[in-house]
Amino acid sequence: MENVKEQEVDWGTQLQKRIKEVLGKSLHIRHVDSGSCNGCDFEMSTLTNPIYDIQRFGIDFVASPRHADMLMVTGGVTRHLEEALRKTYSSAANPKMVVAIGACACGGGIFGETYANHGGVDKIVPVYVYVPGCPPRPQAMIEGILLALDQYEKLSKRKGAMAVES
Ligand code: SF4
Repeated sequence: MENVKEQEVDWGTQLQKRIKEVLGKSLHIRHVDSGSCNGCDFEMSTLTNPIYDIQRFGIDFVASPRHADMLMVTGGVTRHLEEALRKTYSSAANPKMVVAIGACACGGGIFGETYANHGGVDKIVPVYVYVPGCPPRPQAMIEGILLALDQYEKLSKRKGAMAVES
C-alpha cells in the first residue's frame, strides 16, 4: 500500500513539474467523444475522482475547446461525429495537443474502418500521442499527458531553431 502511495506522489509531482516547465501555467483539457462505447470515457472520468484527483496537480477538464490546451479523444471517429471533431479541433486554443485514448481512437479498435466509422482519430485531425488499451487504465492516460507535453516541447524547440536559422 505504501509503495502505491509513493508512486502516486511520484507521478503527481512529475506531472505538476512538467506542466509548469512546458506551459508555465495549468493544463486545460477538453474531452471529446467521437464515437466511443463509453468504456474509455468512464476510465477517463476517474482521473478527477478522489483517488486520482489530478486537479491537485494543475490539470482541469473544461467545457469549451476554446479554453483547452489539449483534446483527449475517445472512440474511432464515426461519420456522424466527424464534423463535431473537426469543429472542436479548429476551435481549440493552440497548441492543440491531441491525445487519442483507447484502441478505437488509435486505429479503429473493434469497430475498425467501415461505412460508418473512419477507424482512428488521425484520419481527421493530427494526433500527438496514442494511448492504446480497451479501455486504457487511468495511469496510461496520465503517461499519455506527460508524453504529449514532451512532444509539444520538442516541436516548440524545433520551431524556435527553424526561426533562428531562417
Ligand atoms: S477502446 Fe474499448 S473501451 Fe474504448 S471506446 Fe473502444 S471499445 Fe470502448
